Amino acid sequence: MAQYDYDLFTIGAGSGGVRASRMSASFGAKVAVAEERYLGGTCVNVGCIPKKLLVYASHYAEDFRDAAGYGWTAGESRFDWATLIANKNKEIQRLNDVYRKILIDAGVEVIEAHAEVIDPHTVIVSGKKVTAKYILAAVGSWPMVPKFPGSEYAITSNEAFCLPTLPERVVIVGGGYVGVEFAGIFHGLGARTTQLYWGELFLRGFDGDIRTILAEEMRKRGIDLRFKSDIVKIEKVAKTLRATLTDSSVVEADQILYATGRVSNTPKLGLENVGVNLKYNGAVVVDEYSKSSVDSIYAIGDCTDRMMLTPVAIAEGVAVANTLFNDKPTKPGYLNVPTAVFSTPNCGTVGLTEEEAREQNYRVDIYRTAFRPLRHTLTGSDQRTMMKLVVDQTTDKVLGCHMVGPEAGEIIQGLAVALNCGATKAQFDATIGIHPTAAEEFVTMRTKAAPTAAEEFVTMRTKAA
Ligand SMILES: Cc1cc2nc3c(=O)[nH]c(=O)nc-3n(C[C@H](O)[C@H](O)[C@H](O)COP(=O)(O)OP(=O)(O)OC[C@H]3O[C@@H](n4cnc5c(N)ncnc54)[C@H](O)[C@@H]3O)c2cc1C
Repeated sequence: MAQYDYDLFTIGAGSGGVRASRMSASFGAKVAVAEERYLGGTCVNVGCIPKKLLVYASHYAEDFRDAAGYGWTAGESRFDWATLIANKNKEIQRLNDVYRKILIDAGVEVIEAHAEVIDPHTVIVSGKKVTAKYILAAVGSWPMVPKFPGSEYAITSNEAFCLPTLPERVVIVGGGYVGVEFAGIFHGLGARTTQLYWGELFLRGFDGDIRTILAEEMRKRGIDLRFKSDIVKIEKVAKTLRATLTDSSVVEADQILYATGRVSNTPKLGLENVGVNLKYNGAVVVDEYSKSSVDSIYAIGDCTDRMMLTPVAIAEGVAVANTLFNDKPTKPGYLNVPTAVFSTPNCGTVGLTEEEAREQNYRVDIYRTAFRPLRHTLTGSDQRTMMKLVVDQTTDKVLGCHMVGPEAGEIIQGLAVALNCGATKAQFDATIGIHPTAAEEFVTMRTKAAPTAAEEFVTMRTKAA
């Protein structure tokens, strides 16, 4: 008789859990996955996919305006939030069913219920104890709203995806990519939008030029961006939310969305009771193979607080399946992970920022260009696209590529391959461009840029130290 009911019991059928379960089953493991809320997890239900659909929706107003420069007279346009949300929900329902089918087709048993770990090889699910040789926590994360007077009136990205009506006035708090993206979405759909961030400039960790140019472009479009600003209290007067800010000013809104971070979904999972070490924020502590402090328990994705991105959760899931069931111990790689911000305009980035390169003592050359895209020569829009390369002077290797402009994510994805191959600036220069595109600028930049604020900042810090 088998010692355990399953070889692998995965908790959470999101991006990471689904991939780890399917791959493990394909290697011959007996696998079950428990999911308490929605198949596909955050990405499919309240993350990447619905977000990108809303971003598409938000761009039409600008497209209708731009069309005039090309001779089009568009009829009167109207936006209906209820139609967008209903169509988005239909697509998500379809994806939920696709996820159920791919798991079942892969031979994975799907249990749609909450699971809790009660010993290193046992979980309780649907009131039943089941055992597994390995348990994989792939439980994701949950948005967090800090506690302050009136914080109960704030919503998070979860609720933003299914509001009954489009707010006329919205305040977004937070300077990460989710906040920036929702500011673009609500503004594009017609809401008067204010975004607050307590720091000097949003998108901490991104290249300084991306942060600066994006802020300029968002302000140009009419988004009220306020840095060094936060909410101290929210009061509800009739249907209006009145937010008092740190400078005592008051902003009125119909919705206030907090995008101020996410915490691991580990409460009620039971991990700490069986000896699994958690970080101060509840994230599971894992080694390079995603193994926790208990040998039979692994953890992947957002709940480990490494890089909260879908492709990273998937890569970690693939690595665990290879390690446990394919005789190929695999450490997921985190080098040159490309990312996009689906802000308005988009940003894309891969490799080191200029600030990181300088802090790591690289001597770098910077190539930067900012221009009005061809499309806007006829629309009258003064939108700008920015592209930037960070190049190591010693080896000529391109260390980082950064962009603000339409389709930045699509363009940067290809450059990530080049960076992973160790491409040099000379190889970028030897690559023939596709004309006329914005992307060709990445292979035609020849003039080194003057020192930037980032360089001066790092130099000043080094001198001060
Ligand atoms: C608004 C938003 C936009 C985003 N946009 C992007 C983007 O554009 N690109 C990108 O790469 N990433 C994006 N992300 C991040 C991405 O969604 C996550 O990094 C990814 O979904 C993490 O996958 P995961 O498998 O770790 O967890 P999840 O996908 O969150 O899955 C975890 C699952 O576990 C289930 N669960 C939790 N506890 C239990 C339990 N005890 N029992 C049973 N089931 C349980 C949950 O219900 C959930 O379905 C976005 C996130 C948000 C919030």
